Amino acid sequence: MDTESCFCDDSKGTRNNAQKIFVNRSLTLEGIKCYGFDMDYTLAMYKSPDYESLGFELIRDRMVSVGYPHEILRYTYDPSFPTRGLVIDTTYGNLLKVDSNGNILVCSHGFCFLKGEEIHRYYPNKFIQRDDTDRFYILNTLFNLSETYLYSCLVDFFAKCTRYKLVLKGYHHGDLFMSYRSMFQDVRDAMDFIHDTGILKDQTIKNIDKYIVQDPNIIVLLSRIKKVAKVFLATNSDYNYTEAVMTYLLEHGAKQSGDPPESWRSFFDLIVVDTRKPLFFAGGTVLRQVDTNTGKLRIGTYTGALKHGTVYSGGSSELVSDLLDVKGKDILYVGDHIFGDILKSKKRQGWKTFLVVPELTKELRVWEEKKNWFEELKGLDIFLAEIYKHLDSGSQDTPDISSIQTRMKILTTWMDMSYGRMGSLLRSGSRQTLFAGQLMRYADLYAASCLSLLRYPLNYLFMAPPVLMPHEAPTFNTDDFPSAPLTNCQCEQALSVTNKRP
Ligand code: IMP
Ligand code: MG
Repeated sequence: MDTESCFCDDSKGTRNNAQKIFVNRSLTLEGIKCYGFDMDYTLAMYKSPDYESLGFELIRDRMVSVGYPHEILRYTYDPSFPTRGLVIDTTYGNLLKVDSNGNILVCSHGFCFLKGEEIHRYYPNKFIQRDDTDRFYILNTLFNLSETYLYSCLVDFFAKCTRYKLVLKGYHHGDLFMSYRSMFQDVRDAMDFIHDTGILKDQTIKNIDKYIVQDPNIIVLLSRIKKVAKVFLATNSDYNYTEAVMTYLLEHGAKQSGDPPESWRSFFDLIVVDTRKPLFFAGGTVLRQVDTNTGKLRIGTYTGALKHGTVYSGGSSELVSDLLDVKGKDILYVGDHIFGDILKSKKRQGWKTFLVVPELTKELRVWEEKKNWFEELKGLDIFLAEIYKHLDSGSQDTPDISSIQTRMKILTTWMDMSYGRMGSLLRSGSRQTLFAGQLMRYADLYAASCLSLLRYPLNYLFMAPPVLMPHEAPTFNTDDFPSAPLTNCQCEQALSVTNKRP
């Protein structure tokens, strides 16, 4: 197939920021002997917000059919509210944005954003023990956006509806008590229901052009990689859905470009469905063969050698290494799930990791537009350091820094609001989120799309920028930082605090 020349005509030599691959740890593609791909939200890019709206409507309707009030049908999905990576506190019904230590950056109750003292009432240390997974649920994937929003809609509805009496951990209605925890469990069950019964998948396949991006560059990417390395697909989706989605991407996509389509399966050395990641990276499950004519699983555990074009179900990451005869360190796995795809494959198997972060396109655009606010925030940090520079433990003075702190809060809010109502996926003002922390720790590479790999030669050496520790970085608050050219103008800005946007 002459896919090489057909697509990606503008790819050579130019990469704008949204097409770049960003590097946390140096990695050479020359050393990669095997590329693994996740399917959903990695090779198959869902169209936002149409896909999240579909998920939202299906779980909302499911909630009504299990007994929730009909009034919630008036809520429709609002893509400007939820952000990935938020945490639901199932005890108090709050939606939290936290940093990697569990310090709270933003807190909302329904659609009401809580201020400092209100947050302290719920969380005296403005901190959560996020390891308490029984209480705190992290919304790690893009699939979770619809339930993040539905949970906020429910809290909003019950808080405003006069039939219900608000108490600390939920609502009373006559002799009925509805806890935030049970509401969360009902939303979770509805989510599992629409995925596990196939309702969401059926609707997606019925209207696949509306929900999945068909980009012929995927064919180019897989064809090029196949020439230099082994390639496998490892997805939590079942065989029938995988077959429908991959046929659409790799066979119908090829037809559109005039090429005679190859079977989608021929792009991969190994295909594993029903992987049950993250379990796949630990013990895994029984490996079975899929009968591709019926979609049914063959009974018994598969113990033979790798057969090209065969589809397997279950198994584990170790079986992938064995069947393909590659070591974990020589595998680059590309996925969108920070926990199930990236953290676990890195921590348990030492695979090289590439995180797909579709939100990065918007994050980069906002960052570009608003970075003067961030510069001002940094300047205020320096200014604060300057104020304390000449004070020591014997000083009696207490500098009044309240106007600077106010300005910092205003700038942080403005920055957050430019991304959406819950702010950026990666930061709140100058502080980074839990998601950003995990991304930096576990993803060797990250980009808005796996197609960014097309922009680099397949022997490219990705170099991580050197990161200085605080004691190695140039210091701002010591006498050996004399000129501080920014400081004067920032002094003025800080002291003439204005609430007007610059
Ligand atoms: P992958 O990203 O290709 O590994 O596949 C993700 C699979 O997980 C898809 O089949 C989704 O339908 C499924 N999935 C995502 N979120 C949920 C959930 O909350 N409950 C059950 N299945 C889910
Ligand atoms: Mg995925």
